Amino acid sequence: MKAILVRQVGGPEAMELVELPVPQPKANEAVVKLAASGVNFIDVYQREGRYKVPLPFTPGQEGAGVVTAVGADVTSVKAGDRVAWSHFLGAYAEYAAVAADRLVSIPQGVTDQQAAAAMLQGMTAHYLSHDTYPLKRGETALVHAAAGGVGLLLVQMAHNIGARVIATVSTDEKAKLAREAGADEVILYTQSDFEAEAKRITGGKGVDVVYDSVGKTTFEKGLSVLRPRGMMALFGGSSGAVPPFDPIVLTQKGSLFLTRPSLGNYIATREELVARSGAVFGMMAAGKLKLRIEHTYPLAEAQRAHRDLEGRKTTGKLLLIP
Ligand code: NDP
Repeated sequence: MKAILVRQVGGPEAMELVELPVPQPKANEAVVKLAASGVNFIDVYQREGRYKVPLPFTPGQEGAGVVTAVGADVTSVKAGDRVAWSHFLGAYAEYAAVAADRLVSIPQGVTDQQAAAAMLQGMTAHYLSHDTYPLKRGETALVHAAAGGVGLLLVQMAHNIGARVIATVSTDEKAKLAREAGADEVILYTQSDFEAEAKRITGGKGVDVVYDSVGKTTFEKGLSVLRPRGMMALFGGSSGAVPPFDPIVLTQKGSLFLTRPSLGNYIATREELVARSGAVFGMMAAGKLKLRIEHTYPLAEAQRAHRDLEGRKTTGKLLLIP
């Protein structure tokens, strides 16, 4: 089978298209023939070595397709089932062996591509808006990189809850998409000071929560736009990692809460994984969550997908098609 392999961490060129044997399932695994693999920013961190993965490895944390074989202990799925997963490495390939308890069924009416696009970023948007800081109607959220993969889904969920959404994006095209997703206010943070703008928009009151996936370039100012006892949910570092930080700043800015959550801790049990993915698929079925799958690439063009994602050229979801 064709697969992407990273032998040494580095730039996009570290991803090679190679021929590997089709994996055989271990006792607790199912082998899935991929219809689509999701591209996520975490793939970039792993490829460049910011997040450590034993070498060599096949990147990709998310996929969807059809089960072709199962291990001796697997009873939850069988050959022919349509399944999807996230948070299990090895999806940039034609086939992947996945722990069966990480697989969820794809409901009727949801295509394989939609499932691959919704799992990781959809469940992330869900836990952030429903669990990390459970937004309430009438509250105000600041969502950075609002036209990105997680961003567009998070804006929709916050809007559906009835929260007021202030979005930041880098271009007019992205601003339009954020508005269509339900953002009430959009700030071009590459052209104006989002701290001053967010304070102006909230009449100096500050926002209840900042959902920050951008990190290095936004974190510090984000703390300054929170209301007293508001929450900074720092969930990524697309612009780079946040430098070391003195917690006394949280006191000085108004007894703030800071969390650095990760999806893995919010789908740690089988029950939570099934409930959260089910909630996301349910929103899609009800027409309340629209996916934007503008960017599909052949598996062989994984390097180009990474260059586009890192180059801020993309909106919504990127998929690799084996
Ligand atoms: P996105 O589609 O959001 O792409 C990243 C976006 O970040 C860009 O489009 C860009 O939007 C913005 N950005 C700002 N500064 C930079 C920069 N210097 N370089 C590149 N991009 C920049 O990616 P994903 O939706 O896949 O992921 C978003 C973030 O969420 C990532 O940091 C990822 O690690 C994190 N994440 C965290 C999870 C968790 O559980 N903790 C789970 C899933 C994702 P613009 O041009 O508008 O500025």
